[in-house]
Amino acid sequence: MASPDTLAAVFEHIEANRGAFLDRLIAYLRHPSISAENIGIAEVGALLVEMLTEIGLETSLVPTEGHPMVVARWEKAPGKPTVLLYGHYDVQPPDPLDKWVSPPFEPTIRDGRIYARGVGDNKGQHFAQILAIESHFKVHGTLPCNVILLLEGEEEIGSPNIAGFVRANKAMLKADLAVTADGPRHVSGAAAIKFGSRGVVSFELRCRHAVRDVHSGNFGGVVPNPIWTLVHLLGTMKNAAGEITIAGLHDDIEAPTQEELAAIERLPLDIEAVKHSLGLARLDAPAARPFYERLCFRPTLTINGFHGGYGGPGTKTVLPNEALVKCDIRLVEAQDPQDILRKVAAHVALHAPEVEFVTADMGMQPSKTPIASPYTAPLRRAFVAAQGEEPLLIPAGFGSLPGYVFTRILGIPAFVTPYANPDEANHAPNENLTLDCFYSGLRTGAALLHELGQLEAS
Ligand SMILES: [Zn+2]
Repeated sequence: MASPDTLAAVFEHIEANRGAFLDRLIAYLRHPSISAENIGIAEVGALLVEMLTEIGLETSLVPTEGHPMVVARWEKAPGKPTVLLYGHYDVQPPDPLDKWVSPPFEPTIRDGRIYARGVGDNKGQHFAQILAIESHFKVHGTLPCNVILLLEGEEEIGSPNIAGFVRANKAMLKADLAVTADGPRHVSGAAAIKFGSRGVVSFELRCRHAVRDVHSGNFGGVVPNPIWTLVHLLGTMKNAAGEITIAGLHDDIEAPTQEELAAIERLPLDIEAVKHSLGLARLDAPAARPFYERLCFRPTLTINGFHGGYGGPGTKTVLPNEALVKCDIRLVEAQDPQDILRKVAAHVALHAPEVEFVTADMGMQPSKTPIASPYTAPLRRAFVAAQGEEPLLIPAGFGSLPGYVFTRILGIPAFVTPYANPDEANHAPNENLTLDCFYSGLRTGAALLHELGQLEAS
């Protein structure tokens, strides 16, 4: 049984190598890997295979219909749990380039932050995991638990192949838990563990009446207006009290547990600051439902865009012939994207059969792991050991991540342990990671392996 000294020695190694580790991160960040434009993906995939093999993992580049997966493993700790560490080596396109203070692929340190495309999302975070693994090897010649590292090359284009890949490779990915270091810490700056994420579906409503625009005087009153048709339809989908009124939409929602409600009760919240930062006079309805309850446990129906008719200068007395609405619905456990899309389609067919319902993709399933999981305690201990504070427990991340491939396809608990600062500016110019976040992430990754090594495999 490993003693706590073993972790202290790893922390000392990290401390002694701060400069060298930072130099290596910077070298890694110099390689663009933009999945949307297929720039540098093959090079960075190959670079990772070389790097991970070098530190002692059995590594392969596994092809998919899109960009390949990097899979690296070490499973020589019999009787110990196997952790699947997920990350992604692709980055967002860096545009608009003129908004960057220093070029996106020339990493620069200013005011205690590393500025580079992908440093927060997600290279700095999975590189910290990799260095944590390396540090255990360097200090002890072994790892405290079994590790499978899965690095995807298509996260930034919506992970189109990960579900198929995981489904086809269940045996290769057999693990006791999955941990993803991605995203920012809580907006308050506090460390957090997320136990899932909301899913999402998107769809369009298209309406066309006449074959062309017509004069609003010559035809107004007899020719139907597609914008009004969509306005009335949307009015049947969500009411002014903030309730979604699509039949059956709420059927499969799992009510939050007492533990989950207690966890959101402890999350820092300053509603006035939120309103102030966004220039809001009020929050959206329903006013009575608590802030985090809405973000963790309730679906949404968002109108992303509404297009049709004339919006130019002055007036134009036109009666347009077509209109388009784009919407998304954030889903919560245990809603199913296909089922929800069917219900929306049925609603549209019932209330406005002349409106065309169009959906382009399959959407993303929500995911959730119970806070009562046996792995919650060791994860919390890892945060305390590495960062000196108890992490917040967030029952479900508000955005959408493909955690369902672990919870639903592999059937294992999945956790998100974000290492980045809340103002990492991911997907935006001047993306950055504070040096503190990089090093505390590295320590947390090391502590995580250590704490899991204290357990027996389930
Ligand atoms: Zn991203």
